[in-house]
Amino acid sequence: MENIKAPRGVRDILPDESWKWASIFDVTRKIAEDFGYREVHLPIFEQTELFSRGIGETTDVVEKEMYTFSDRSGRSLTLRPEATASMVRAYLEHGMASGPQPSKLWCAGPMMRYERPQKGRYRQFWQLDFEAIGSSSPLVDVEVIALSLEIFRRLGLSNLEVLVNSVGCPVCRPVYRSALQAYLGGHFESLCPTCQGRYDRNPLRILDCKVPTCRSITDGAPDVRDHLCEECRVHFDEVLKGLALIGAKFRIDKRLVRGLDYYTKTAYEVLSGDLGAQNAVCGGGRYDNLAEAIGGPHTPGVGFAAGLDRIVLTMEQQGLGFGKEPSIFATVVIADEGARDEGLRLLYELRKAGVPTDMDASGKGMKAQMKAAGAAKAAYVCLLGSSEVVKGVVALKEMSTGTQAEIERDRIVAELVLKAGAARC
Ligand SMILES: [Zn+2]
Ligand SMILES: [Zn+2]
Repeated sequence: MENIKAPRGVRDILPDESWKWASIFDVTRKIAEDFGYREVHLPIFEQTELFSRGIGETTDVVEKEMYTFSDRSGRSLTLRPEATASMVRAYLEHGMASGPQPSKLWCAGPMMRYERPQKGRYRQFWQLDFEAIGSSSPLVDVEVIALSLEIFRRLGLSNLEVLVNSVGCPVCRPVYRSALQAYLGGHFESLCPTCQGRYDRNPLRILDCKVPTCRSITDGAPDVRDHLCEECRVHFDEVLKGLALIGAKFRIDKRLVRGLDYYTKTAYEVLSGDLGAQNAVCGGGRYDNLAEAIGGPHTPGVGFAAGLDRIVLTMEQQGLGFGKEPSIFATVVIADEGARDEGLRLLYELRKAGVPTDMDASGKGMKAQMKAAGAAKAAYVCLLGSSEVVKGVVALKEMSTGTQAEIERDRIVAELVLKAGAARC
């Protein structure tokens, strides 16, 4: 029989990498606390309608990338391709509007999209997702942007810069859309085939096309800021003022757009890295009409999502550390079978005391046990032979120096607790 492998485009996060993820989660969890955001765990599948209405029928995600299936009772379900729609669904379903507003929520977990796999892009990918639901204040936009910046600052990412724009609202966007179409109409023949297809359905998306001819055409396109209504203009000014106030480095990018009606006002991305090699490490914005699109009452909201794979990749590119990799602190090594029972007793005393400890279980010789202790990067080895058991001592070997000292069996646990504590500081 052929060996079964993981499906195309998904991967296992093995221990050599997962500890880096854990340290990113630690940083994230602390910042969530610092900003007053509370964690929720959302289901990984939802009714398909939530996404087709909550992301938009005409988006690539809904048209081509969703994992949609019928369950055994014939319901159409979809593996979540993103978290925002689910978060808003949960907010509405649990009546969070009656609590203090905005509801400040976050979650972390895998999202699934049927995309072409490539370096750093997988069909199951993890995201950190923060949402503030129930407030239309521009100060909340600023808070969300500041929170994302703070995550990347604490992780040590260099040259953080915010790209920000306003995408208007259902009042002013149609005006802009017409102006944009009028301009692009004059260059229709020169647009790439994809953009020609977008011209009627979603002309704003043409602004972020990467094809050089499209880019040079859109360089001269009208700017959304010249078409914002009074409310959107004031909101945008307040966001920019807030960003300046908190000392965030930002740049207005007129290409940053979203074509759907429930994305409103602020759209932003955070970039990191040297000029020319910048990476977008998160994206977000306001979605004041999303709750209505999925059948709820009007509920403003703003948030962002950041991909774990991308964060790790960017941190590695920038040569950043992830804190200390967890490892075994002590290994119990027995010199002969006569010491095995006492070795086992010591092993569990140390574990109970909170000292990360291991011991060979397969009857290896002493040399092989010592080698394994070295490979596990143990700081200390507790060496026990029949003679030590009789004497009531343990030979404690410090691996980095090779020095060895005899410690009374009664004192060994306390001694290692002390050393492990000191090593943690
Ligand atoms: Zn507007
Ligand atoms: Zn194009």
